[in-house]
Amino acid sequence: MNWARQIHLKSPAELKIMREAGRINASVLAATKALLQPGVTTADLNAAAEEVLKSYGCFSPFKGYGRPPFPASVTISINDELVHGIPNKKRKLKEGDIVSVDCGTVYEGFVADSAYTGGVGDISPEAKALLEVTEGALYAGIDKMRAGNKTGDVSAAIQQYVESRGYYLTREYTGHGVGREMHEGPQVPNYGTPGTGILLRPGMTIAIEPMVLVGTEETRVLPDQWTVVSADGSLTAHFEHSIAVTEGDPLLLTVL
Ligand code: MG
Ligand code: MG
Repeated sequence: MNWARQIHLKSPAELKIMREAGRINASVLAATKALLQPGVTTADLNAAAEEVLKSYGCFSPFKGYGRPPFPASVTISINDELVHGIPNKKRKLKEGDIVSVDCGTVYEGFVADSAYTGGVGDISPEAKALLEVTEGALYAGIDKMRAGNKTGDVSAAIQQYVESRGYYLTREYTGHGVGREMHEGPQVPNYGTPGTGILLRPGMTIAIEPMVLVGTEETRVLPDQWTVVSADGSLTAHFEHSIAVTEGDPLLLTVL
């Protein structure tokens, strides 16, 4: 992926806009979460997301992104699909599935980026534990998003949280700065060494996104050139928030 690596510090006025972008993005994700029921198609979830985006006059930076151009506004990845699944009107949710929905929102020129994994009806204890570990890892990382820390502190917290519980993290896909571009600097991997990397400063805005696998860190991309699956077919999960570094506590941008 050809990311712009520059780090852009945001002004208080820009952070206000990004907070609003994040609020809208949270509404979009909530609309998809309300539809996680057997029989609903992944295209239905994308349509619901697009309806909310449109109601705010916003759009998703995912649509048309990359090569081949991503054809939808959200990525939807089920069970062994880790990230970047393409919505499809033939793909119906089934009882027990775990569904990762990732969405971006562009509002007044700024991007919000966030994802969750949710269950369809009753899910297995294995799936439930995976969701708890992945979301827990996200918040372990967020807690390190403080001025004076380094990106390696965030990465290491996520890695420690996940691997100490016997789960795996992909090395292929990472967290990233977010702002006027969906992908800015710094890159924030889900593994690393405390005290290394880029110094966190107030005004930095970063998407933190642990991608966790039950059985392996290895992934492969399906022939559709987008969908990333676990190499062993094991379950996977993905949680993401966009966060601003402040003088004090980390500011979650992508919540209601
Ligand atoms: Mg995302
Ligand atoms: Mg992201």
